[in-house]
Amino acid sequence: MTAEIICIGTELLLGDILNTNCHYLAQELAALGIPHYYQTVVGDNVARIHQVLDIAMKRSSILIFTGGLGPTPDDLTTKAIADFFQTPLEESPEVIDDIAQKFAKIGRKMVANNRKQALIPVGANILPNPTGTAPGMIWQVPSNSEPITILTFPGVPSEMHRMWQDTAIPFLKSLGWGQDIIYSKMLRFRGIGESTLAEKVNHLFDLTNPTVAPYASQGEVRLRLSAKATSETEAIALIEPIAQEIQEIAGLDYFGADDESLTSVVGNLLRDRQETLAVAESCTGGGLGAMLTENPGSSDYFLGGVIAYANEVKQSLLQVKSEDLAQFGAVSHPVAQQMAIGVKKALDTSWGISITGIAGPGGGTAEKPVGLIYIGLANPEGTVDSVEYRLGDTRGRTLNRHLTIGNALDLLRRKILNN
Ligand code: ATP
Ligand code: MG
Repeated sequence: MTAEIICIGTELLLGDILNTNCHYLAQELAALGIPHYYQTVVGDNVARIHQVLDIAMKRSSILIFTGGLGPTPDDLTTKAIADFFQTPLEESPEVIDDIAQKFAKIGRKMVANNRKQALIPVGANILPNPTGTAPGMIWQVPSNSEPITILTFPGVPSEMHRMWQDTAIPFLKSLGWGQDIIYSKMLRFRGIGESTLAEKVNHLFDLTNPTVAPYASQGEVRLRLSAKATSETEAIALIEPIAQEIQEIAGLDYFGADDESLTSVVGNLLRDRQETLAVAESCTGGGLGAMLTENPGSSDYFLGGVIAYANEVKQSLLQVKSEDLAQFGAVSHPVAQQMAIGVKKALDTSWGISITGIAGPGGGTAEKPVGLIYIGLANPEGTVDSVEYRLGDTRGRTLNRHLTIGNALDLLRRKILNN
C-alpha cells in the first residue's frame, strides 16, 4: 500500500500560494511509515481531476486530497471524485445540522450554497471538521483488486491539520499503519564538496535501512540517514553505527548533526575550554559577530569586536601598521594577522579572529579579484595564522559575505580541535 498526495487548486498552479499542505502531509506520512511516491497538483477542473485520479488509482492505494471542499462553484473536489467512481452524492443530515449550528453560533443563517458541503458519495464516511464548515470524507472505494482509500481535506491549512490529527491518524493506525516510525539524523559537513564526500561514502548509498542521502546547501554538505523501525531506540541503533562510520571517514570535515550549527559547535568548544573570542571584521561588517550572538548564552565566550571597515579604524583601534597597509593593501595576509592580534589584545581574549576581503561586486583588480578574502586567527599561545580564500566573482556580495562568515567559524573550529 502506498499513498499519493493530490492538492487541488488553480492558485497553487499559478504560484499564488505555497503548497504547505503537501509539505505537511509528506512529513506526516513519513512519520507514520506510509510510503508515498507521488505528489500531484491539479487545478480546479473536473476533467483534469479525473485524469489525475485515473493515474493515481493505478499506482497508489491511499489517495489524500486537499482543497476544493468549500461552498463556491470552483470547489468541486467531492463531486469530481464521486463522478469518477460513478457514485451518486447524498446529503448528510448530520453535516447539515453541524453547519447550521456553526452558523447560528455566529448569528448567521446558512445559505443554499452551504448545503453543497453536506454532499458526500454514497458509502463514504464523514471526516469531521471541528474548526470550519466544510467536512472531508473517508471513503474506502470497493474495487476488484486492492481497495482504494480516499481521504479529502479542505485547503485551509489549520483546518486540515486538525482533521488529520483528530481523525485521519487514528483511522490510518486502525489500518495497521504507524506501528513503524521513520527516524532521521542529518550529518553536517564543511570544507568538503558534495561530490568528494559522496565518493568517500559511496558504498553506503545502496543501504536500505538506514538509507543515506546527500543534500548540499550554501557552503555546507549534509547526509541524511533515515531508518524505519518500531521504536526510536531501534531506529537509533540502526543509524548510529553508520553515522559513526561516516564521521570517521569524514574526520574534521564533519562538524555536527541535526540542529548543531557551526556557531553552536564553536560556542560549545570555547565554553568547554573556558576560552574567549573577539572578532575584527572588515568586509563582513559585523556579520560574524551577529552570527556568534545568535547562539543563546554566547556571552560566556564571545566578548565583542571591532568593525574596522576604514583603514583608519584598522590602524587606530587594531594597531594595524600604516606601512603594511600601504605596502600590502588592506586585503592581505599581514593586515588580516595584525587585525586578529589587535582585537585579541584590545579585548583581552584567548582567540582573535579577523576578516578582510573584497565582497564585490566592485572593488576587484587583476591582482586582487572580487572574492579574495583573508581570515586571520590569533590563538591563545600568542601566535597568529592567516588563510587566503578565493570565492570568485560569480556568487555575489551577499553570498560571499555569508560564506566568509562560515569559513571563519570553520577555521576557528578546526584550530580549536587541533590545539
Ligand atoms: P474553503 O471552504 O475555504 O473554500 P476549500 O477546501 O475549498 O476551503 P480551497 O478553496 O481550495 O479550499 O482553499 C482555501 C484556502 O486554503 C486557499 O485560499 C489557500 O489559502 C489555502 N490552501 C489551499 N490549498 C492549499 C495548499 N495545498 N497549501 C497551502 N494552503 C492551501
Ligand atoms: Mg474554496
